[in-house]
Amino acid sequence: MDNICPDCQSLIQNKHIKSHEFLSLISTLPNSQLYKCTSCSAYLHCYDHLWEVLIEGYYGNIPETPPLEQHAHATG
Ligand SMILES: [Zn+2]
Repeated sequence: MDNICPDCQSLIQNKHIKSHEFLSLISTLPNSQLYKCTSCSAYLHCYDHLWEVLIEGYYGNIPETPPLEQHAHATG
């Protein structure tokens, strides 16, 4: 858990927290949501108020800024 930001760590540890300001909602499924953190670039999955890290980010390292950021539009 060293590669996610403190906000994400608090989500994992304090399961009552809904989300934090750096999370962007990627996809919504029944009873679950998929978020990407814009602070540490981790992917978080929330299912029934339980948070888990799908893909760790790179908090603490200087991120490479992509020239073009793709925005996937998920519907449904
Ligand atoms: Zn984060």
